[in-house]
Amino acid sequence: MMQQALCANSPITCGDCSHCLRIAKGQHESVLWISPQTEQIKIDQARQVLDFLSLQSLTKKRFVVLERAEALNQQAANSLLKILEEPPAGTVFFLLTTNPAALLPTIRSRCLMLRFRPLTVEQLRSNNLNRGSSSSANASSNSNSDSNHSSIPDWILQASRGSFSRMAQLSSSETQAFRSAASSLLLASLLDENFLTVAEWRIQVKDREFFREVWPFWMELLRDTIAFKWQRSDLLTCPDQMTTIERLAAIYSELDLDDILLRVVQTARDLSIPRDPQLVMEQFFVENRT
Ligand SMILES: [Zn+2]
Repeated sequence: MMQQALCANSPITCGDCSHCLRIAKGQHESVLWISPQTEQIKIDQARQVLDFLSLQSLTKKRFVVLERAEALNQQAANSLLKILEEPPAGTVFFLLTTNPAALLPTIRSRCLMLRFRPLTVEQLRSNNLNRGSSSSANASSNSNSDSNHSSIPDWILQASRGSFSRMAQLSSSETQAFRSAASSLLLASLLDENFLTVAEWRIQVKDREFFREVWPFWMELLRDTIAFKWQRSDLLTCPDQMTTIERLAAIYSELDLDDILLRVVQTARDLSIPRDPQLVMEQFFVENRT
């Protein structure tokens, strides 16, 4: 909505102009985003809102977003009542909350309630097609973007669970490379009897980020394999890794999969204390064979 109002190509939202990009990065001069710094939103942060609105607007519309608006304390809320009742022209407030009942009544009575739900697969798809066509019409030179918006596979739309940012992440070539590498590593650690003598993974796990992200991804893969055994393909979050899922499902019983999953969960938990990645992998390999 903010992009729609401020986009250089309004009324469409191009996603590529300097306004759209600054909004996406949280750096637009016409958008003030307040997140509680402590348990409460106190008077200092309310003053930030008043200061922002006392400046001359550079655009036709301005937006103030209060995250966790229920955290406004009494004093901060009182200082905002007047401006909420009569905001300067072109100003739109968003008071975000997961619990409208917790808003102070004086605040709530000045608000119009809108419910935001996760986007449906259809909404993700159609919005995405719009973005894809508008950016190619602009012959935008933004070619270093990883995601080809117009051809997002169905499984990504599903696995995004209604979130554009997750969709973008899943579509990136980096993420795809990670997923196939992590998938192969799981198979190797479970099925390759010579795993301990293989040099490749020892190099791989030296990449701390890779090593950290492997465990949660393996949890997803193992859960998917169990779902696949239940013939619940609708529950899969990694259908891009179908070869791995089918292979695991053919080899392991549901009980075995539960055991492996438990070991992955425990290992992930133990990683809160820094440990040597190679030793952790060796231990995982050995445990799955005893
Ligand atoms: Zn734009």
